[in-house]
Amino acid sequence: MEESLNVRGLIITAPLSVSMSTFDLRLPSEEYVKVKVEACGLCTWEQRVYRGTKPTYPFWGGHEVSGVVSAIEGKNTQNLKTGDRVALALMRRCGQCHWCVNDLDNHCVYIRPEAQGTFPSGPRGLSDLMLVPPYQVFPLGVGVKPWEGALVEPIACVLRSVDKGQVKSGDTALVIGGGTMGLIHTSLLKIRGCKVVVVDEDATNRRRVRLAGADWTFSWTRNDLAKAILRLTEGRGADAVFCTRGGTDAVKFSTKVVGRGGRIVLFQSILGSRNVSVDANDLHYREIQILGTISQTREDFQRAVDLVSTCRDFLKSLKTESVKAEFANRAFEKATSRKFNRVLVRFD
Ligand SMILES: [Zn+2]
Ligand SMILES: [Zn+2]
Repeated sequence: MEESLNVRGLIITAPLSVSMSTFDLRLPSEEYVKVKVEACGLCTWEQRVYRGTKPTYPFWGGHEVSGVVSAIEGKNTQNLKTGDRVALALMRRCGQCHWCVNDLDNHCVYIRPEAQGTFPSGPRGLSDLMLVPPYQVFPLGVGVKPWEGALVEPIACVLRSVDKGQVKSGDTALVIGGGTMGLIHTSLLKIRGCKVVVVDEDATNRRRVRLAGADWTFSWTRNDLAKAILRLTEGRGADAVFCTRGGTDAVKFSTKVVGRGGRIVLFQSILGSRNVSVDANDLHYREIQILGTISQTREDFQRAVDLVSTCRDFLKSLKTESVKAEFANRAFEKATSRKFNRVLVRFD
C-alpha cells in the first residue's frame, strides 16, 4: 500500500505572492477520508494574509471546502461512500475535552493543528487532495454544486450568529454591514420570518442586500440614522442587532438602537483598537444582552449542510466567481477587490 500521497497546495509566501507547491503527505495511521477538492472559498483570513495585514508566512490557507470522496479508510465512515460530494468542516474537535462535551466544540482545546514538519501552517483547503478524519466530512444533498458546498462553512457561522440573536418571526433585526456576511445574515433572518434593516456605507452593497430580501437599507453615514431605525419600530428599537462590520463604532451604535430585552451579536473580529465603552446602566435597565459568536459547532455545520441541501435559492444574492487554481494570483486579486462576495478556487 502507498505510504504517502502527492498533493498540490497553494501557498502564500509573502504579501501578494501565491504559488503552487507539491508536498508528500504521509498517510495517517488512523482512519481517514481522501477527498478530491473541487472548490475552496477565499475568506477574509486568506485575504488578510495575501494582502499582508496578517503576515503569517508561509501560509497554506483554505477552510471553505467542498469536494468528492475518492477513498475511505476506517470504520466510523458508514455514512460515506466514494463519489459522494461533501463539504468539509476543517476545525479540529477532539470530542473529549471540557468544551467538546459541553456543546462548545468550536472551542476545542486542540483546535490549532500542531505544526507538521516543514509544511506551512494553515487549514490546507487550497489543495487538490485532502486527507481528513471522518468527523470533518459532511455529505451534501443531491444537486448541490461545488461552489454551493464551499459556502456551507460561512453559512454555518452565520446560523450560529442568528441563533445567538434569538429572533422570532415578526421580529425586527438590524444587520450592520452589507458585505458577504451581511448578505448571508439578511437571507437567514428572512428565512426566519424577520423584518430586516441593513446599514452599509456602500450603495452597491445596499443594492445586493435588497436582492437578498432586506426590507430597508440605510447609509451608515446618514445623520439621523438612529432616529430612522427607531422610527421603523415605533420607537422601540430592533429586537436583535448583528455587527458584521463597523468595528467598535458599530457596537456603540447598536446600544442606541436595540430595544428593551434586545440582543447585540458581535460577529466580526475587530482589527486595531477594540475597546468599547457602554453605559452599564443602559444594559441593566433595558435588559440588553451583548453576545459574541465565533465560527461554528459540528451541529451548526450539519444544520448548514441540511439548509444548503434543501433550500439554497438564497445563495443567488451572492456574487461569486470561480477561478482555476493555476491562476491563483488572479483569484486572490479578485477576492480582495470587493467586487465579489466570494471567489472560489477550482481544482479540476
Ligand atoms: Zn470563512
Ligand atoms: Zn475538544
